[in-house]
Amino acid sequence: MKQRTLTILKPDTVARRNCGAIIARLEQEGFEILGARMVRLSEEQAMAFYAVHKDKPFYRSLVEFMTSGPVWPMALERDNAIEHLRLVMGATDPAKAAPGTIRQQFASSIERNAIHGSDSPENARTELAFFFSAVELA
Ligand code: UDP
Ligand code: MG
Repeated sequence: MKQRTLTILKPDTVARRNCGAIIARLEQEGFEILGARMVRLSEEQAMAFYAVHKDKPFYRSLVEFMTSGPVWPMALERDNAIEHLRLVMGATDPAKAAPGTIRQQFASSIERNAIHGSDSPENARTELAFFFSAVELA
């Protein structure tokens, strides 16, 4: 069944000019891009987006990283989009990411790991709404 998910090309991806390669990979995987917009997150916005991690030791540094340059959120659609994106992304830590995954190929560290992907239907809904209005994705 068709499903939507949110990805974000993170600041390391934009800075290292890996956006094109990663978008090409996502398209090859059958994702349709429904919406995309390059944005520079404020500290408040990055803190809100990652609020679920607010008590983690890496939160402060993550917020700093995510506000260090432009990011490229995209709304994606595909069969089983949420699970498939997580599979194609690979593990959070690129050292543990399977060969051929985006993070294995493009991430430089567990923090600077190239790409975000929603991890559940509830979070996909919330995260899509964080960046895109219903009208934009219609
Ligand atoms: N992160 C980090 N250190 C860690 C775990 C996570 O810097 O030990 C960062 C990393 O950028 C990751 C983000 O925090 O993508 C969100 O963490 P999560 O556990 O949700 O990983 P993801 O869902 O992105 O794989
Ligand atoms: Mg996550």
